[in-house]
Amino acid sequence: MNDDSAKPLDKIFEQFLASPKIIKNRDVLRPTYVPEHLPHRDEQIKKIAMILAAALKGGTPSNLLLYGKTGTGKTAVAKYVLKHLKQKSVETGLDPPLISYINCGIVDTNYRVLAQLNKSIGVEVPFTGLPTDEVYHRFVEALDTNSKLMIIVLDEVDMLVKKSGDSILYDLTRINSNLENARVSIIGISNDLKFKEYLDPRVLSSLSEEEIVFPPYTANELKDILTERAKLGIYENAIAPGVINLCAAYAAREHGDARRALDLLRVAAELAEREGASQITERHVKEAKIQIEADVVTETIKGLPLQSKLVLYAIYISHARSTTAVMTGDVYAIYTELCKELHIEPLTQRRISDLINELDMLGIVNARVISKGRYGRSKRIKLAVSRKLIRNLLEDDPRFQKISKFLSD
Ligand code: ADP
Ligand code: MG
Repeated sequence: MNDDSAKPLDKIFEQFLASPKIIKNRDVLRPTYVPEHLPHRDEQIKKIAMILAAALKGGTPSNLLLYGKTGTGKTAVAKYVLKHLKQKSVETGLDPPLISYINCGIVDTNYRVLAQLNKSIGVEVPFTGLPTDEVYHRFVEALDTNSKLMIIVLDEVDMLVKKSGDSILYDLTRINSNLENARVSIIGISNDLKFKEYLDPRVLSSLSEEEIVFPPYTANELKDILTERAKLGIYENAIAPGVINLCAAYAAREHGDARRALDLLRVAAELAEREGASQITERHVKEAKIQIEADVVTETIKGLPLQSKLVLYAIYISHARSTTAVMTGDVYAIYTELCKELHIEPLTQRRISDLINELDMLGIVNARVISKGRYGRSKRIKLAVSRKLIRNLLEDDPRFQKISKFLSD
């Protein structure tokens, strides 16, 4: 690569190599990494281990429900205990349990969960097409050809239930009565504390034979978690004083979320590295916070249903057109124009008002009731996120190409 076009690149790589070292091990800073030590989760780890220990004496552990907000260590703790249970079984000369880990945030239909369970014991079923009952029976039959224990982890099970109901949980929590040789224990993990309210009481009582709550981490606990992780992932002198504390303080405000704390540290480290700085400083953490929050908002907006997006764009356009406060009625007028342009049946103003409330709850807009007009309570609406961010999203979505002309007015 001696031609001139490669020179600028060469310079970038050279600069990178010559700059001070910040990140020692990138993988350790990623959210999927499960460390060998999980501070402040001794109680949960012991409780789960005591329940699963039944497996070491040929018993069937009780079903288990783990719940707590995101980033409270549920997935990490479950994986950690299962790994050690497996190791212990092997050490003791026992047949280790089969473990099937399913992330229901991704595998989110009853059919796909059953297909995945089949796959985990070597039975291939087509992606779609078979009746769900049939997929279930194939699983029961194949599993029962040996007398092993299978531990099924249904992580983010609340997503599955919200999308596809709880019928599969009903079947799986009763599967042992269909098995003669094999046995099944279930570990359900939920990020949604209200999850239990969605379940049929019979499913709930069998799934939550044992229940373990994961409370949010305090700022001090997050500090310990980050300090240990920083030792593994970042060079010793590359962190300025106060950096860990700041990451911990921000993440503690964000419901004690260890994932957020680690994200802040990793992104701050990457920013420092890219800048060629000799240390990660508090400024990098502040910039990381802004970047992460923008990413979260972007993902939230991308995931909105079409009608909510239209309402958001209508709010955006209202602001672009008006110099005075934007009211529900203004938004509704532009929303109906957009619907016409896109050949979409508009919803009622009442519904739009509800969607605006939802956007408010998501922190994307601020809506304040200020008068009781002809259409009921009218709200003054402001964007709570940057206009540029919304504009970028709007331009990226091909469905909205047609309405971009509203923006150039
Ligand atoms: P949850 O499943 O509750 O959303 P995770 O188990 O995925 O949370 O944890 C989020 C991130 O924080 C992961 O990278 C995990 O390794 C880390 N983490 C959570 N709790 C601890 C802990 N007690 N010690 C070390 N790391 C932790
Ligand atoms: Mg998790």
